[in-house]
Amino acid sequence: MDHVLVVGAGGVGAVAVAKMAMRPEIFKKITLASRTLSKCDAIAADVKTRTGVTVDTAQLDAMDVAATVAVIRESGAELLLNLALPYQDLALMDACLEAGIHYLDTANYEPPEDAHFEYKWQWAYQERFREKGLTAILGSGFDPGVTSIFATWIRKHKLDGIRLIDILDCNGGDNGKPFATNFNPEINIREVTAPARHWENGAWVQTPAMTQKVAFDFPAVGEKNMYLMYHEELESLTTHFPEIERARFWMTFGDAYINHVTVLQNIGMTRIDPVVHEGKEIIPLQFLKTVLPDPSDLGALTKGKTCIGDIITGPTADGEKTYYIYNICDHEACFEEVGSQAVAYTTGVPAMIGAALVMQGIWRDPGVWNTEQLDPDAFMAMLNSDGLPWQVVELDSHPAFGETEAEA
Ligand code: NDP
Repeated sequence: MDHVLVVGAGGVGAVAVAKMAMRPEIFKKITLASRTLSKCDAIAADVKTRTGVTVDTAQLDAMDVAATVAVIRESGAELLLNLALPYQDLALMDACLEAGIHYLDTANYEPPEDAHFEYKWQWAYQERFREKGLTAILGSGFDPGVTSIFATWIRKHKLDGIRLIDILDCNGGDNGKPFATNFNPEINIREVTAPARHWENGAWVQTPAMTQKVAFDFPAVGEKNMYLMYHEELESLTTHFPEIERARFWMTFGDAYINHVTVLQNIGMTRIDPVVHEGKEIIPLQFLKTVLPDPSDLGALTKGKTCIGDIITGPTADGEKTYYIYNICDHEACFEEVGSQAVAYTTGVPAMIGAALVMQGIWRDPGVWNTEQLDPDAFMAMLNSDGLPWQVVELDSHPAFGETEAEA
């Protein structure tokens, strides 16, 4: 098995295709399809210059299942990598079932009219994939993706279970723009304006968006403010590791970012319901995306590092222990290697690695799987060899951030 079809020619798709081209022994034929053919062709031309590898391209509306099945059959692909938007997940899973090929994505399905992340829609495909002997891997980006695989690796090699997990996503990069998002602006703003939610003692605790702020001193980046948020891997991790008492997700934002989002929200520009503008229906958030910088253009401008990882506490035979496992990624080094900034890089590389494991039969059990359900070892080895090396350190105890403010 060595033919892959990548759907989505955005920042993440560009990195995944470039990294696949650097592994020609695994990916012998790569086809890139997306809504705008010229974006596929531009990525293919860049990959050809960097690696000498030819990437085939095709125009595709991924919401059209029959059209996707036709592109799959024409390309001869055996795995579809969905790097379009979360709205396309179900249509692309349907197309894979119909064409009889494997599926992998980096973000869980979200209905366009409702900013609401939940795995129930994709988990409902479990039997259909299993019956056809096909594999669907959900969430093989960094978060979700690597952060869940880090948890599985810690649980396999360091602890006898997970009691507490905090996922810390820090982008210490600066692109010099007054306001720009690092990945698709519509998806990013829907995520950060949704209420925060974390798991505590068997129940979800909801707090207003961006109200719980804690400073943390990140390795290689330094001290940054991070905010409690909801993120989709909290649902799958607490489902698959039911021993977890508390699971939280934190992301860093600078004051300027928070101020811009607050103003945009206050004036209605983040609304996702249609409004009539000069006789035509528009969705304010989609209009906002049109006027904001394109994240795939930020690579040349972004300096600094990302640091994303998990702090995990759990039992061992020698009593309770705490580990911090993380990756540090440098924006400028990513740009030099593949022409993209680190946020697209840290998503595109794990997507390529997940695809490589499906291609090689290492992750090929029939059914629908979140990444924490799969054996982490081959994935962790490829993180080290293919651009996202990780480190693990033991901490004296689980940091107390958040508790004091939550109780106050
Ligand atoms: P971009 O917006 O840069 O790229 C999305 C691409 O999908 C665009 O090329 C777009 O086409 C294409 N597309 C959108 N709709 C369709 C459609 N109906 N048919 C065909 N193609 C379509 O997004 P990113 O590259 O930043 O993100 C890609 C995915 O990665 C998203 O789902 C995002 O949520 C996820 N992500 C996951 C992360 C993780 O760590 N797990 C982190 C960051 C992102 P066009 O160019 O014409 O608009």
